[in-house]
Amino acid sequence: MRLVFAGAGASRGMALGRARLEQPSRFLIDERPLGEDEVDAELERLRLAIEAAREELQQLRRKLHGSTAREVAEFLDAHSLMLADRELTAGIYELIRKGRHRASAAVKMQRDRLVGIFEAMDDPYLRSRKEDIDHVIGRVQASLLRESSAEERRLAARVGEILVSDTVAPSELLPLAEHGVLGVVLTSGSSFSHSAILARSLRLPMIVAAHAALSAVHDDDLLLIDGESGEVVVHPTAQDLARYRNWQRETAQRSKQLALLRDTDTRTRDGVAITLHANAEAPTDVAQARTLGAAGIGLYRTEFLFLQRRELPGEEEQFLAYRDLVLGMQGRPVTIRTLDLGADKSDASGLVLDAEENPALGVRGVRLSLRLPQLLAIQLRAILRASAYGPVRVLVPMVSAAAEIESVRRMLAECARDLRSAGHEVAHNVELGAMVEVPAAALALGGMIHLVDFVAIGTNDLVQYTLAVDRNNDHLAHLYDPLHPAVLKLIAHTIHTAHRHGRRATLCGEMAGNRRYTALLLALGLTDFSMHPGLLLEVRETINGLDHATLRRHAAALLRAPTRERIARVLQRLGLPD
Ligand code: PEP
Ligand code: MG
Repeated sequence: MRLVFAGAGASRGMALGRARLEQPSRFLIDERPLGEDEVDAELERLRLAIEAAREELQQLRRKLHGSTAREVAEFLDAHSLMLADRELTAGIYELIRKGRHRASAAVKMQRDRLVGIFEAMDDPYLRSRKEDIDHVIGRVQASLLRESSAEERRLAARVGEILVSDTVAPSELLPLAEHGVLGVVLTSGSSFSHSAILARSLRLPMIVAAHAALSAVHDDDLLLIDGESGEVVVHPTAQDLARYRNWQRETAQRSKQLALLRDTDTRTRDGVAITLHANAEAPTDVAQARTLGAAGIGLYRTEFLFLQRRELPGEEEQFLAYRDLVLGMQGRPVTIRTLDLGADKSDASGLVLDAEENPALGVRGVRLSLRLPQLLAIQLRAILRASAYGPVRVLVPMVSAAAEIESVRRMLAECARDLRSAGHEVAHNVELGAMVEVPAAALALGGMIHLVDFVAIGTNDLVQYTLAVDRNNDHLAHLYDPLHPAVLKLIAHTIHTAHRHGRRATLCGEMAGNRRYTALLLALGLTDFSMHPGLLLEVRETINGLDHATLRRHAAALLRAPTRERIARVLQRLGLPD
């Protein structure tokens, strides 16, 4: 029966696919004991389920292509090997044969036992491998429990899967997308999380805070999700499918209309030129940024090179990645951010302290880099070597004190000197910038602006740290408010301070790509935006229709407004959405 429930849209687009619950411990477990005469049939059921799971993995492996194919193949092979591992499977057969448990219950018991062993391990890498057990067990459970109707299976067989889970780490998303997952529905999370940012970059529709999802959806249910409105339809009807086809048609039309703005100038109605840069996480973002006419890359998040892998990328590997990025932008400037691991972006290499009480206030961003200067030096050397191929800027995340910038600048100069004396070519003008994403950096910017060549305002974190609201916590989503007067004051102050000292200020948080905020940011004096390339043309279209002088005249009123409601009213008076 058709069922609809709502979450919050986190990555736009609709997807039609069959549900895959990634929560083995929540699968329907049949706890009834087996009768003696059922044992053989149950053993056979398990054998077939394991075989089906292995076949699925093989099929996925055959479909792999693209830059991450090798890593994903390793990951799939490891899972295939686990399914062939007697240690894992013999225990399950035993639980059926001797313990008279049904297959699903036996699989779950074995999963819990193995996860218990992994959790007790000291090595954080091995400990994190318990996720592999869950992936593998999840596949077996799903094969055991395929219960959808023949008609639904017929429809669903033509489409891929929609992941339904409670959370997903940024490091898991890329392989999921490569596996052919079409969309993601999460019971928790927020659209400002790094997972949501990555989902947008991968063009993977995502819904967060869909609290009912895990209890309302079963494996293999056909789902239609809308990553804009946050709606999840279970067992969509013919009417829903017609709506989906309509959306596909409209999206194609809209892209054609926006395509007319490719490679055109971005100018307000009264002729003020605005610069639009692109944020990039994946190589596809770079290609898109160039073809749509981005002025450059305003934020390249290097941490995605470090996630989903066992060992750290060395200088050569990083150099090649950065050089390709620079070459890909064909002479337009590329802003490479030094590693911003920590908080919700942890890796498998054990770099990030996993026992911090307060990871968002802990060793993340530049703090981690300065704790591990060897690691920072490798990254700076790789960036500097890439600077021989085109304009490169270095951006430092999570700056809260001038001393941090001084340390990075010193290291940058040392690395450049060492490289030159070793015969490498290094550009003479590699600019260094600070991200303003901690209120302290915004308020004290005047005291450190002389140390940097430019600033980048990271509103995703600036909102989080100004309002003391975890950007990933859906229970606080109503408090995570980019229109809060305190946030606007900090943004305006940062832009003003940077401009007064002849430095450019780019805003590269998610606000920059949301056209609801475009007029507001122009009013506050912003001239440089950086956003996901997929949003560039619609922001350009919005800017082209606005009058800069009128907006600037309202800056004081916006900054005086004591509440977000009053701010919204000023924007409405200007005829703009709040
Ligand atoms: C930000 O905080 O706004 C930002 C751009 O950085 P990230 O989202 O990667 O933390
Ligand atoms: Mg940030």
